[in-house]
Amino acid sequence: MKIGFIGLGVMGAPMAANLGKAGFEVRGYDLRPGGRTVASVAEAVTGADVVITMLPDSPQVEEVLPEIVEYGGDNLLYIDMSTINPETSLGIARRLPHALDAPVSGGERGAIEGSLSIMVGGKEEDFQRALPVLQAVGRTIVHVGPSGAGQTVKAANQLVVGGTYGLVAEAILLMEVSGVDPAKGLDVLAGGLAGSRVLELKRHSMVARDFAPGFRIDLHHKDMGIATAAARQAGLALPLTALVTQLIAAARAQGHGSLDHSALLKVIERINAA
Ligand code: NAD
Repeated sequence: MKIGFIGLGVMGAPMAANLGKAGFEVRGYDLRPGGRTVASVAEAVTGADVVITMLPDSPQVEEVLPEIVEYGGDNLLYIDMSTINPETSLGIARRLPHALDAPVSGGERGAIEGSLSIMVGGKEEDFQRALPVLQAVGRTIVHVGPSGAGQTVKAANQLVVGGTYGLVAEAILLMEVSGVDPAKGLDVLAGGLAGSRVLELKRHSMVARDFAPGFRIDLHHKDMGIATAAARQAGLALPLTALVTQLIAAARAQGHGSLDHSALLKVIERINAA
């Protein structure tokens, strides 16, 4: 099976490598010359059975879409694994008969290990066709609904993660300012109902103020924009999501866009002049 892979960044490069290791013939393209094996989108798409995009945001996906439509064969399966607006995914599905939105969670480590969680929106028969490809890059792969549903689930994921970071940051500051050792406090929290993957993976680095990325504030800012737009589209008020969106925007405005999203703690500190 021939796969055209567009977007060889932090996530895309190791994903494309894993597809190659699994025996697929991969033709990788990126705007940046570095690891690409073909020189254009057209070259990556022509003759491919499957095309995958792993690009930053909706505008970049929309930029390459016309060439995917033009050079892709009638039976082309298109899998967009970028995190973009559900509305954009719906628009893509109107232009390509076999299109899946399949955003991921699990970060760079998950991409390298081939252990990503993948939430897939689209038709069942297209999902079944995509499964062997997705199994080469992910471990938890769920067909969550029709086109756009994958992106909606990803937006839900990002608002829960962002909100959790905000509350863990507030918990750390409360304990520190009250004279309690936050490391011991968070160990207890991690074992109780307040436990989470965020506490499991990030409590030590947060207490130590180690904010090396990881997942950058800039990307989470983009994702909160997607969550907010999705809520608006659904006619919903999501007050906590709105607040978390503003706190992440503040982190960015304070110059922390390149830090890990756990750097939300810096915003909570600043609000309190701590
Ligand atoms: P990245 O910026 O490292 O990679 C994107 C790549 O796309 C870059 O190499 C860039 O040169 C290329 N590109 C941009 N426009 C292009 C175009 N028109 N044609 C060809 N190539 C183009 O980003 P990333 O971290 O790999 O993230 C990709 C997507 O995955 C984003 O939507 C992000 O939100 C999502 N995601 C990232 C993570 C993470 O931990 N980094 C985790 C889950 C989901």
